[in-house]
Amino acid sequence: VVRMQRRLVYSVLGDQRQGCEQCGWCCCWWSIEVRPAELERLRGYDWAGESARLRGVELFLEQGGQGRKQSSTYIAQIGGRCAFLEGDNRCLIHRVLGEEAKPAVCRGFPLVLGQTVEGVMVGVNCGCPAVMRNRGERFSQLEGQVLRLLNEADADPEGASGLLGEPIVARPVLKGSTRLSWGAYLELEGSVGEILSMPGQTLTAQAMAARALVRAAAARWEGQVAVVERDEMRGWLEGEGRGGYAAAFAGGGGKGRWLSRARKRGMARRIVRAEAAGSGDGETRGNRMDRMDGGDREDRWDQTDRMGWADGVEGIVRGEGRLWLSVLGGMVDLAAVEAMFGVESPGEGVLTRFLLNYVRGKSLLEAPSVVRGAEEMLSQLYMARWYAAASAVLGGRRCVGEGDVVRGVQAVERGRAIRGGGRSW
Ligand code: SF4
Ligand code: SF4
Repeated sequence: VVRMQRRLVYSVLGDQRQGCEQCGWCCCWWSIEVRPAELERLRGYDWAGESARLRGVELFLEQGGQGRKQSSTYIAQIGGRCAFLEGDNRCLIHRVLGEEAKPAVCRGFPLVLGQTVEGVMVGVNCGCPAVMRNRGERFSQLEGQVLRLLNEADADPEGASGLLGEPIVARPVLKGSTRLSWGAYLELEGSVGEILSMPGQTLTAQAMAARALVRAAAARWEGQVAVVERDEMRGWLEGEGRGGYAAAFAGGGGKGRWLSRARKRGMARRIVRAEAAGSGDGETRGNRMDRMDGGDREDRWDQTDRMGWADGVEGIVRGEGRLWLSVLGGMVDLAAVEAMFGVESPGEGVLTRFLLNYVRGKSLLEAPSVVRGAEEMLSQLYMARWYAAASAVLGGRRCVGEGDVVRGVQAVERGRAIRGGGRSW
């Protein structure tokens, strides 16, 4: 049995900052779960008396309760926004009862907490624009907030799973029967991070080289039923790192075609699926309200639906047709997105920050193996770029700007949360 410890391990970029700018993004789309003690506090208040728009609105919805899972309570949404989110993008609970009265998931955002063998990992959700633009307080100054959340999790072990998620596997699978000790994994992750920060290379080349390094590690220990220890990994990486990871860059194919048709089809499938899940009328997302007032949205989704699942995927692959993107709130012309897709933009710094925080936040371990995790990292990069291009097209811009890239990353983070990848949610 591997004991989990309570040491804080910051798993973000060293210079990372965060400070809420009230953009409201994290209060839209998500299903906000309310724990029993929080619900009791919130139910006893006359919310309609504070905000007339809440008159007659059922604020809390119960969901689930099938199979093993107990039912949970969620805050209702109105038009895709949390019912408590006011027109000025401020939280009504925060204004009336103070920050401490908000559900824990709200107070925790954009922190992503996870349990590892070396302690509690403190990562970050890159959907927050303040994180992506690196504005606000230094991350280390958020320690008090993290500790308060952890104390709460201790006091309420049932709710703790929601805050901390399942413990992160202590000996990750590299590929097949080869596992890594935690130390060896950290060495490999460190080298992936180094490659993603190498000067003089495009981000695409860096990401492909990072994947090539992980694959080379898998090839090195292929077929060995073994746990690779830290020293072994470190010795091997020293060799690979010589000459600025020249072998990884040569093997990454970074200069060649960066997106095969098969990969593009895979990406397209995921975009269409995420859009379908994100546009659902709430049977699965707990926002029954949407169904009542979201007629307009549904009409537009129907158009995509008539276009059909397969057509939507092929449309993205070939760059033909139109697709309703719920996440960006508009119908895009796929040929225009295709023309803009993959072009380097002023937002490359944002994308680099996203990928580095993604890797440090142990997202490579969300896949069944580190090799697949590295593949997934590439897919995330492609999808962020695709959505960034779509955002520029919707905004009528001739090139992809930094704001478009932030929206691209948000789309990807939202897709991950819908699939259950976002650990804090
Ligand atoms: S996404 Fe970030 S900046 Fe926007 S409301 Fe949430 S915490 Fe604040
Ligand atoms: S409860 Fe407040 S902080 Fe939480 S999602 Fe709703 S508006 Fe945002």
